[in-house]
Amino acid sequence: MKIAIAGAGAMGSRFGIMLAKGGNEVTLIDGWPAHVEAIKKEGLKANFNGEDITVNLPIMLQSKVSAQTHADLIILFTKAMQLDQMLQDIKPLIAQHTEVLCLLNGIGHEDVIEKYVPMEKIFIGNTMWTAGMEGPGKVKLFGNGSIELQNLGKGQEEAAQKLAAVLSESGLNAKYSDNIHYSIYRKACVNGTMNGLCTVLDVNMAGLGQTSTAHDMVVTIVNEFASVAKCEGVNLDVAEVIAHVESCFDASTIGMHFPSMHQDLIKNNRLTEIDYINGAVSRKGKKYNVATPYCDFLTQLVHAKEQILGAK
Ligand code: NAD
Repeated sequence: MKIAIAGAGAMGSRFGIMLAKGGNEVTLIDGWPAHVEAIKKEGLKANFNGEDITVNLPIMLQSKVSAQTHADLIILFTKAMQLDQMLQDIKPLIAQHTEVLCLLNGIGHEDVIEKYVPMEKIFIGNTMWTAGMEGPGKVKLFGNGSIELQNLGKGQEEAAQKLAAVLSESGLNAKYSDNIHYSIYRKACVNGTMNGLCTVLDVNMAGLGQTSTAHDMVVTIVNEFASVAKCEGVNLDVAEVIAHVESCFDASTIGMHFPSMHQDLIKNNRLTEIDYINGAVSRKGKKYNVATPYCDFLTQLVHAKEQILGAK
């Protein structure tokens, strides 16, 4: 299958490498010139479960995408704030038959994708795979993961199942979900608590969990997500979601990790995806007349921190 990875950072590189190893014809597309140049010159370098590998994959700058490179499948892996520009730039790649899969964290990306892709070709989901950027042309890929995905267009269930099968053939462990909006909101509750709070407080997840106020903050934020989700027909099991979120505090599993937003902003001075997580809940809250004071405040705090640190 001809697959384009639109956004070849940490996650895009992981998917590109695994799908190419699985026999697909993969092209990487990215907007970071130093990264594109490094991969063109020396290949994509990865520490893949402890083994150093170099994979040669074609890569092009998103501003240079041309109509000769139609794809059967485009997998979107930008940061949320880069998504609209990426879709604008890769318009020439989107043929009538092209399917587009979005696995970004956050809520409501379909509103952006719909501007460029017909509904029946859009597939959304989320993933438990992880990846880290080490520098231009270099990524770190550890552990296992999974993917859940679903069609947005009516009657496209079979296409979604086929897409999951293609990803699984390359070891990506994908499955069809008949309630993807539930999974997306559930994962967004993890990101909407751990990411913003650990970033503003400059602490890892176990450290956050040890504070006397963590539980109340998690409960309030998850309830705000659940109230907004309900207006969209998604009824979260709030107690289960809170337990799921708080399992991140466990120092013997993942608690010692800093969430990716912390790494982006505190370590690398990069802008965050807060507008597409807590900020999305705030916007939807206004639309549905639901109060979301903790999400509003956390979004403002993270933006203030971005400005203090001069994030780009
Ligand atoms: P990423 O930051 O590694 O890559 C996204 C884009 O930013 C790429 O185009 C990349 O080239 C560019 N970029 C990366 N570092 C840069 C730098 N220093 N300067 C300039 N440009 C830079 O993002 P990601 O971690 O691959 O995440 C993509 C999406 O997947 C996000 O929505 C994220 O929340 C989600 N996600 C990430 C993980 C993870 O473990 N990384 C897991 C699940 C979901």
